[in-house]
Amino acid sequence: SFAARLAFEDVGYRVGTTEILKGISLSAEPGEVLCLLGPSGSGKSTLLKIAAGIERPSFGRVLLGDREVAGPQRFVAPEKRGVGLMFQDFALFPHMTVLDNIRFGLRAMDSAAAKREAAAALERVGLADAAGAYPHMLSGGEQQRIALARALTPRPSVLLMDEPFSGLDSRLKDVVRTDTLQILREARATAIVVTHDAEEAMRLGDRIALIRDGSLVQAGTAAELYGRPV
Ligand code: ADP
Ligand code: ADP
Repeated sequence: SFAARLAFEDVGYRVGTTEILKGISLSAEPGEVLCLLGPSGSGKSTLLKIAAGIERPSFGRVLLGDREVAGPQRFVAPEKRGVGLMFQDFALFPHMTVLDNIRFGLRAMDSAAAKREAAAALERVGLADAAGAYPHMLSGGEQQRIALARALTPRPSVLLMDEPFSGLDSRLKDVVRTDTLQILREARATAIVVTHDAEEAMRLGDRIALIRDGSLVQAGTAAELYGRPV
């Protein structure tokens, strides 16, 4: 399995004199889905961007496995971290077929191997028949599965997802969440999912980290946090 542990050690982020993150220590264990839950503006996306390497912490460190990827003396560029990103607006390319969308994530690989990998990935998400289709021909749920297949095919050690279901209507969300969880489990991926929706965090997260005003309030399973199983 390619899943890794991702750890934040006393991570802070300042813009001018504003403390956006106030020293967060937290980890996602290999194969775990960790949800960052908190109100809008609490710093969740900033923490995710620091994990991705899109932002640099003002203090503290980020470890990926036993490798320091961000710290006072060290900064590993996003493309060298081996993390996958899925943002809310990170849609499929409309002018590319489904297969080519997935192959796009495998640009570093030779093209025959990339094609085989992409076809296998489509099979895993149950959409082998859609290889030649264009995204607009598919349902929202199918598009989301393909976006997930694209994010996972390069085998990131950690998949970072920022409000990945916010673009879906509520009818679809349930199905897509269940699908997502199943696909993450099969890939045995470590995932960090940002959400402001407590119900979503309870459904998806092996553990939930409550973030408020740039600080970690509490982290644990849904049962530990809310005192009941879900
Ligand atoms: P969340 O994801 O929880 O909604 P964010 O991490 O997006 O929160 O933002 C946390 C806070 O930091 C917000 O108040 C946001 O406006 C502020 N913020 C984030 N990045 C910057 C920046 N580069 N400059 C100024 N303020 C920022
Ligand atoms: P916000 O939380 O402020 O709404 P967005 O989700 O719109 O932020 O985007 C987060 C940041 O990550 C943006 O600066 C965007 O350009 C960048 N980004 C999005 N997708 C990728 C990607 N695959 N690789 C690198 N950077 C990305």
